Amino acid sequence: MPTQSQSPYLPFGENKTAPWYGKDILSVKQFTRDDLGYVFGVAHEMRGMVERVGTFDLLKGKILANLFYEPSTRTSSSFTAAMERLGGSVIPISEVKYSSVSKGESLPDTIRTLECYADVIVLRHPETGSAAIAAKAAKKPVINAGDGVGEHPTQALLDTFTIFEELGEGQIDGMTVTMLGDLKYGRTVHSLARLLSLYNVKINYVSPEILRMPQEVMDEVAAKGIPQAEYSTLAEVLPQTDVLYVTRVQKERFENPEDYEMVKGAYVIDPEIMKAAKQEMIVMHPLPRVGEISPEFDDDPRAAYFRQMEYGLYVRMALLAMVLGKA
Ligand code: ASP
Repeated sequence: MPTQSQSPYLPFGENKTAPWYGKDILSVKQFTRDDLGYVFGVAHEMRGMVERVGTFDLLKGKILANLFYEPSTRTSSSFTAAMERLGGSVIPISEVKYSSVSKGESLPDTIRTLECYADVIVLRHPETGSAAIAAKAAKKPVINAGDGVGEHPTQALLDTFTIFEELGEGQIDGMTVTMLGDLKYGRTVHSLARLLSLYNVKINYVSPEILRMPQEVMDEVAAKGIPQAEYSTLAEVLPQTDVLYVTRVQKERFENPEDYEMVKGAYVIDPEIMKAAKQEMIVMHPLPRVGEISPEFDDDPRAAYFRQMEYGLYVRMALLAMVLGKA
């Protein structure tokens, strides 16, 4: 790996003319295929730096406000780790009940407050479109860490980076990606399907009837000329699948608890089922899992979901460095 000073991606000074300097990251729709090559180039360098030196001072003196109105383990802690590995610091607000939000403060006012203290704001919120509202109120960059059933762009970026690192960037064109589970409420698959439509992939959707991929997302993907097909059983498509992307049924989004009970155990990946899959493929999951993948499958080399979390650290380091003019 190049040292920090030799790196084509990581300059020492803040570069205000850098393409992503000061930008919000709200949706995967902002990214072109070239942009992704750039993000993944930076993320790859971050990986090398973490492996070699652990922590370094690229964002020394910078502060991130990590504002979470919904539960999170990976997204919240990986943004914290990303900022700290880059030498910056974090204002963590995950218990909004202890902040002025519980007094009825509006999202724009909370955002205007935090940007007085921080250089960048990461926001998770239960309402679709909330990240865009926050970005409108803020002068500092806002990164969408999940807005209801809308989007989860940083997850889709790390998912695509995982596919590249695991199966080879050059292999993406021609791949078959199968998304399984709750495709209606799962924001990660909404973002991932849109992002993968920048490549020549084939996308299969396997879900119960009531949890099908929204038509709006399918129309956007179709407009890019990407072949898509819907199924209710996995067996039909598993043997051709290169990437199996499993999702949790999003209990918290259901209006009717009986509907959740009806579909919650619809698909379970286990070693027996995976006998029908290729040897050279990967199984991904944004996590948390609540029964969709049996722990007995965890030791299979195709189980990429724990490695996927680690790739998330590097992608989030890259994004923070980019919007703060250091990449
Ligand atoms: N962690 C992911 C999200 O926040 C997936 C999930 O919760 O099922 O969307």
